[in-house]
Amino acid sequence: MALLINEECIACGACEGECPNEAITSGDDIFIIDPDKCTECYGFYASQQCVDVCPVTCIVPDPAHQESKEQLAAKFSTDHPGSPLENTETWTALKG
Ligand code: SF4
Ligand code: SF4
Repeated sequence: MALLINEECIACGACEGECPNEAITSGDDIFIIDPDKCTECYGFYASQQCVDVCPVTCIVPDPAHQESKEQLAAKFSTDHPGSPLENTETWTALKG
Protein backbone atom coordinates (compact mmCIF):
# COMPACT_ATOMS: atom_id res chain seq x y z
CA MET A 1 0.00 0.00 0.00
CA ALA A 2 1.37 3.41 -0.90
CA LEU A 3 1.24 6.10 1.73
CA LEU A 4 -0.26 9.56 1.44
CA ILE A 5 0.42 12.89 3.10
CA ASN A 6 -2.67 14.52 4.58
CA GLU A 7 -3.53 18.18 5.16
CA GLU A 8 -1.79 18.21 8.54
CA CYS A 9 1.54 18.50 6.68
CA ILE A 10 3.48 21.64 7.67
CA ALA A 11 5.70 21.41 4.56
CA CYS A 12 8.89 21.15 6.60
CA GLY A 13 10.55 19.06 3.87
CA ALA A 14 12.14 16.57 6.26
CA CYS A 15 10.70 13.57 4.45
CA GLU A 16 11.69 14.40 0.88
CA GLY A 17 15.35 13.43 1.04
CA GLU A 18 14.68 10.30 3.09
CA CYS A 19 12.66 8.48 0.44
CA PRO A 20 14.70 5.76 -1.32
CA ASN A 21 12.26 5.84 -4.24
CA GLU A 22 12.24 9.61 -4.79
CA ALA A 23 8.47 9.42 -4.42
CA ILE A 24 8.06 12.62 -2.40
CA THR A 25 7.84 16.08 -3.93
CA SER A 26 6.74 19.52 -2.84
CA GLY A 27 3.19 20.41 -3.85
CA ASP A 28 1.41 23.75 -3.76
CA ASP A 29 0.74 23.71 -0.01
CA ILE A 30 1.85 20.33 1.27
CA PHE A 31 4.22 17.59 0.19
CA ILE A 32 2.96 14.78 -2.06
CA ILE A 33 3.74 11.06 -2.41
CA ASP A 34 3.61 9.48 -5.88
CA PRO A 35 1.75 6.19 -5.34
CA ASP A 36 3.37 4.73 -8.44
CA LYS A 37 6.80 5.07 -6.79
CA CYS A 38 6.14 4.49 -3.07
CA THR A 39 6.81 0.91 -1.95
CA GLU A 40 6.19 1.78 1.70
CA CYS A 41 9.98 1.36 1.82
CA TYR A 42 9.58 -2.36 1.12
CA GLY A 43 12.84 -3.66 -0.35
CA PHE A 44 14.92 -1.02 1.40
CA TYR A 45 14.10 -0.60 5.08
CA ALA A 46 12.15 -2.27 7.85
CA SER A 47 10.16 0.90 8.49
CA GLN A 48 8.81 3.80 6.48
CA GLN A 49 11.55 6.43 6.42
CA CYS A 50 9.24 9.39 5.78
CA VAL A 51 7.03 8.43 8.70
CA ASP A 52 10.05 8.08 10.96
CA VAL A 53 11.14 11.69 10.37
CA CYS A 54 7.77 13.45 10.07
CA PRO A 55 7.20 15.72 13.09
CA VAL A 56 3.42 15.86 12.81
CA THR A 57 2.33 12.30 11.97
CA CYS A 58 0.58 13.31 8.76
CA ILE A 59 1.75 10.37 6.60
CA VAL A 60 -0.79 7.57 6.57
CA PRO A 61 -1.74 4.50 4.50
CA ASP A 62 -3.54 5.36 1.26
CA PRO A 63 -6.70 3.22 1.09
CA ALA A 64 -6.93 3.91 -2.65
CA HIS A 65 -3.60 2.20 -3.26
CA GLN A 66 -3.63 -1.06 -1.32
CA GLU A 67 -0.90 -3.50 -2.37
CA SER A 68 0.38 -6.87 -1.22
CA LYS A 69 4.04 -7.55 -0.41
CA GLU A 70 4.28 -9.27 -3.77
CA GLN A 71 2.99 -6.19 -5.56
CA LEU A 72 5.38 -3.94 -3.62
CA ALA A 73 8.26 -6.27 -4.51
CA ALA A 74 7.28 -6.12 -8.18
CA LYS A 75 7.20 -2.31 -8.04
CA PHE A 76 10.64 -2.32 -6.38
CA SER A 77 12.08 -4.60 -9.05
CA THR A 78 10.67 -2.46 -11.84
CA ASP A 79 12.13 0.74 -10.41
CA HIS A 80 15.43 -0.80 -9.26
CA PRO A 81 16.26 -3.56 -11.74
CA GLY A 82 18.98 -5.88 -10.49
CA SER A 83 18.92 -4.54 -6.93
CA PRO A 84 18.37 -7.10 -4.17
CA LEU A 85 15.41 -6.75 -1.83
CA GLU A 86 16.63 -5.99 1.67
CA ASN A 87 15.10 -6.11 5.16
CA THR A 88 11.98 -7.91 3.97
CA GLU A 89 11.97 -10.18 7.05
CA THR A 90 11.72 -7.25 9.44
CA TRP A 91 9.58 -4.94 7.29
CA THR A 92 6.25 -4.04 8.85
CA ALA A 93 3.33 -2.37 7.09
CA LEU A 94 2.16 0.92 8.54
CA LYS A 95 -1.07 0.54 10.48
CA GLY A 96 -3.83 2.94 9.54
S1 SF4 B 1 7.08 5.03 2.68
FE1 SF4 B 1 9.19 4.97 1.92
S2 SF4 B 1 8.93 4.74 -0.29
FE2 SF4 B 1 6.97 5.50 0.47
S3 SF4 B 1 7.10 7.72 0.34
FE3 SF4 B 1 7.76 7.14 2.41
S4 SF4 B 1 9.99 7.02 2.29
FE4 SF4 B 1 9.19 6.95 0.18
S1 SF4 C 1 8.03 15.45 7.11
FE1 SF4 C 1 5.79 15.49 7.42
S2 SF4 C 1 5.30 17.66 7.79
FE2 SF4 C 1 7.36 17.60 6.89
S3 SF4 C 1 7.00 17.85 4.65
FE3 SF4 C 1 7.08 15.63 5.08
S4 SF4 C 1 4.92 15.05 5.39
FE4 SF4 C 1 5.03 17.28 5.59
